[in-house]
Formats: sequence, structure tokens, C-alpha cells
Amino acid sequence: ADIVHRQHVETHLREREAELERFAAVAAHDLKSPLTVIMGYCELVEDTLAPGSDSQVTGWLGRVRTGTRRMQHLIDDLLAYAAAGDGSLEPAEIDLDTLVADIVMERTSHLDHDRPNIEFGRLPKVVADPARIRQVLDNLIGNAVKYVRHGTVAQVDISAEREGDMWRIAVADHGIGISADQRENVFAAFARARGSEGYPGTGLGLAICRRIVNHHGGEIRVEENPGGGSRFVFTLPVAPEPSSRGAEA
Ligand code: ADP
Repeated sequence: ADIVHRQHVETHLREREAELERFAAVAAHDLKSPLTVIMGYCELVEDTLAPGSDSQVTGWLGRVRTGTRRMQHLIDDLLAYAAAGDGSLEPAEIDLDTLVADIVMERTSHLDHDRPNIEFGRLPKVVADPARIRQVLDNLIGNAVKYVRHGTVAQVDISAEREGDMWRIAVADHGIGISADQRENVFAAFARARGSEGYPGTGLGLAICRRIVNHHGGEIRVEENPGGGSRFVFTLPVAPEPSSRGAEA
């Protein structure tokens, strides 16, 4: 009877959690359009100001814009978080080489200096949901490029190896690193490690990654990169089961 009661409570809690999350997702979604309006008018006012006019006003507008953009990022992350562990996966064959090359290009092509040095050897083909795996790698690569010591250029190494029936995919950097006592915590929603104060972020990226990877039946963790910095490792089943497992983890 105890077990039945516990299961009942757990189901109830899970339902409540899902309900809260739906609430947050709807709220986040509804905040998108007013923000777009704020952004639009901000740009309009900026364009209307005569060149050389009150630089203080331009400064204020810049702040409105920065704040609005931060809010937009947060909303996008909230929506991605809500979507990450939810719904069915649409697995397809993904050529990780092509995917990573594409992400690197997207993240670096507009930079003309301080271009990060991102290396990857031969990466395998995996079967997984392409849009979600892209999100995982994009978050990890984005972090690897972001959390560099100020004034240094990012050095990132992406690799994969097969271990039994799992692929182990690693994104390693030589950045600021994460102290041992915080390595598990960074995967919680809104968690940010000590030392990341000077870097922009919402603390949701790794929570999104963990949800997506777990939803695929894999795991994600971070360790110290032997050369200094962090090394994020996630696993994906070589032959995924038709219905995803591990969605609760
Ligand atoms: P965000 O980057 O938006 O803060 P994430 O969920 O992606 O959120 O990461 C959570 C925290 O983990 C970050 O705030 C940072 O403290 C730490 N972190 C993530 N990736 C790295 C990395 N490559 N190097 C050092 N710290 C990292």
C-alpha cells in the first residue's frame, strides 16, 4: 500500500510540474509579441533621431535595446526548455561532421578577429532528432566559445568515440573551467557557476541539453579538461529504441 501511495504522489507531482511548465511556456510565448513591439519602436526612434543629436538619449535607447534582447533570449530559452523533454522525437540519420561544421560556420563566420579555433576530427553518423541534437551541440559549442578567459581566443576540440552500444561525444575547451563542487549543479535550470558573472547567459542552456540527451536515452556530464578548462561529454545510443527511453531522468 505504501508503494501504491508513493506512486500516486509521484504521479501527482509530475502532473503538477508539467502543468507549471505549460503555464511558464504559455506566459513566455505571450511575452514575445510585446517585446517585438518594444524592439521595433526602439529602432524606429533611433532611426528618427538626427545624427549627432543628444548622445545621452541614444545611450538610453541602447540600454532599452540590450535589456529587451536579453529578455528575448530568456524567453527563447524558456520555450526551448519546455520543448526539450517533451513530445516525440523524430529520429533521422545525422552526419555529425556536417552538423558541427555548420554550427561552427554559423557561430564564427561573422567574426573578423578573435575567431575561435574549433577543431574536430572525423565524427560519426548518429540516429537522433536532428533539430534537438543541433541544439545540444550549439549550446555546448556556444559555451566553449563564450567562457574563455577575457582577452584570449577560444580553443575548442570536438571528438567522438564508440563505447559499446553508445556514442560518447565530447566538447572540450581551455576556458575558465568549472570548479569540481559545481560540476553537477550547472545542469539545473537557471544555475550558473561562480566566475560566470561577467558573461551573458540565462543558466538554461545546459538544462536544455540534459533534457534533450536524457530524452534520447543518453547522459551528459562535465569533467575537467586535462589541459585546463572543461570537457562536456554526452552519450547517445548507437541504435536508438523506437520509443525514447530515459525521458524521466
Ligand atoms: P548560461 O551559459 O546561459 O549561463 P548554461 O546552462 O549554458 O547557461 O551554463 C550554466 C553555467 O555553467 C554557466 O553559467 C557557467 O557558469 C557554466 N558553464 C557552462 N559551460 C561552460 C564552459 N564551457 N566553461 C566554463 N563554464 C561553463
